[in-house]
Amino acid sequence: MASRKVDALLVGSGVMSATLATLLKKLDPSLNVLMVERLDRVAGESTDGWNNAGTGHAGYCELNYTPQDAEGTVTIDRALTINANYEISQQLWSSLVTSGDLPAPDQFINPTPHISFVWGEKNVEFLRQRYEKLSAHHLFADMEYSEDAETLKQWMPLVMGERSAEEPVAATRVAYGADVDFGSLTRHLVSSLEQQDAFDLCLNHEVTGLKKSDRNHWNVTIKNRATGAKETITAGFVFLGAGGGALPLLQKSGIPESKGYGGFPVSGQWLVCQDENVIKEHHAKVYGKAAIGAPPMSVPHLDTRIINGKPALLFGPYAGFTTQFLKAGSKLDLLKSVSLNNFKPMVDVGLNNMDLTRYLIGEVMQSHKDRVATLKQYLPAAKESDWVLSQAGQRVQIIKKDEKGRGKLEFGTELVSAKDGSLAALLGASPGASVAAKAMIDVLECCFNMRMEGGWKNKLKALVPSYGKSLIDDARLLKEVREHALSTLGLQKETGQSDIQQPEQFHRSAG
Ligand SMILES: Cc1cc2nc3c(=O)[nH]c(=O)nc-3n(C[C@H](O)[C@H](O)[C@H](O)COP(=O)(O)OP(=O)(O)OC[C@H]3O[C@@H](n4cnc5c(N)ncnc54)[C@H](O)[C@@H]3O)c2cc1C
Repeated sequence: MASRKVDALLVGSGVMSATLATLLKKLDPSLNVLMVERLDRVAGESTDGWNNAGTGHAGYCELNYTPQDAEGTVTIDRALTINANYEISQQLWSSLVTSGDLPAPDQFINPTPHISFVWGEKNVEFLRQRYEKLSAHHLFADMEYSEDAETLKQWMPLVMGERSAEEPVAATRVAYGADVDFGSLTRHLVSSLEQQDAFDLCLNHEVTGLKKSDRNHWNVTIKNRATGAKETITAGFVFLGAGGGALPLLQKSGIPESKGYGGFPVSGQWLVCQDENVIKEHHAKVYGKAAIGAPPMSVPHLDTRIINGKPALLFGPYAGFTTQFLKAGSKLDLLKSVSLNNFKPMVDVGLNNMDLTRYLIGEVMQSHKDRVATLKQYLPAAKESDWVLSQAGQRVQIIKKDEKGRGKLEFGTELVSAKDGSLAALLGASPGASVAAKAMIDVLECCFNMRMEGGWKNKLKALVPSYGKSLIDDARLLKEVREHALSTLGLQKETGQSDIQQPEQFHRSAG
């Protein structure tokens, strides 16, 4: 069997591995980095534009980031954290545009107002309280709120058209929200990496095994999916950025930190609009409230998208049950992931999440007509024939033990790393690609501690100027870094603009 040696082996070519590889090569260009991808293309799973919602998750419109407790009090801590973490991504992308590692920003990010929209008295009350709390914080100071039907019509004419005037409605808007084509972003990052020395991309190769050697290196087996030929790579550091495929690889690594983790896959589907006239009339991401029992990432939304340079309009996601961990995975993925050390937590989760099970069964049983009926709550004039169903990516939610050893289902993202820093894996998928920069900086802090102390931190500050400081606490710093990033990325800062703008007419302040 052939063999070779690298400093870092990154499994998968999604946004996470691409971001980590970019950071590593910026911090030390001499590092020998190998990226291994089982598909024949880069970013073909969750990161591809058609497989995710492309929302630059900043907590502006996602109502599940500001939950209400039993007394009706809205808590905003999660929204603040997500917003501050998203700013880290925007700073990194902005630096990479300036350095020429990324192309003109409209090739991967586009200004798209982020709107939360609710109807019914109770929901209006919730949104008002959410707005009051969020807008009092500097991170959300530019958020607008309105209960006035005319204003809302200007923000989203199709959503407000043919709607009963009797019903109380309300919306918030942040004009400089973004639609991000994470697939395009990632492909640009990888092609920039490919132009550098000591970086290799191995497509159509699957990591099938990994074992720690006596010399504290990892021996990683990769298999050519076309020829079946196997090769062993010796790596000083391994990142399991395999998306849904990360859990099985983490289990294979055998590190003590991997014990007890399980995965619960949830698939997604969109309704995609085929009528260009409808697509042209809507320009926003409009998020509503999730149905009872729905997992947090299934909040319905109507999204203006620009995918591979073309405008599109998507509604969803509709969740579904699946046993695959990857869209191009195997039906046996879930079964194969069950082991003695995660069997109990997985059974606990199955028994204790009946609402979720009922919700998923309900979603799977829906007809096209049922799905369009949900869409009509957002787009009253929607015609069944204008919309077709399309398969989104897979998310594998994390199952882990709670303090009492019982299984619990988590909807966030978690970094699991070996104590000696030689391996890290990213599990879960929310808030996902939007916080890739923060998640990968966490990998550097966990696994490259000595290099960070030895000079990488200063280099990182050049890429992410707020690094090491809190944007939640520092209003002045936030203003500075946000204005710079919005300007470099061509996103609007002005609020109060009411005209609908078509994607090709987007006002870009720089680029
Ligand atoms: C329906 C849906 C909507 C979403 N919406 C949003 C959103 O609006 N905003 C947002 O920020 N995030 C969103 N996300 C989450 C986001 O897409 C993911 O968090 C992100 O793309 C994950 O990137 P990744 O690099 O970890 O994984 P992926 O993009 O899945 O990449 C992993 C790669 O690893 C490869 N791989 C797997 N196993 C192996 C192996 N053994 N050997 C070699 N290669 C392997 C896979 O083929 C794949 O290419 C959404 C996800 C879904 C499914």
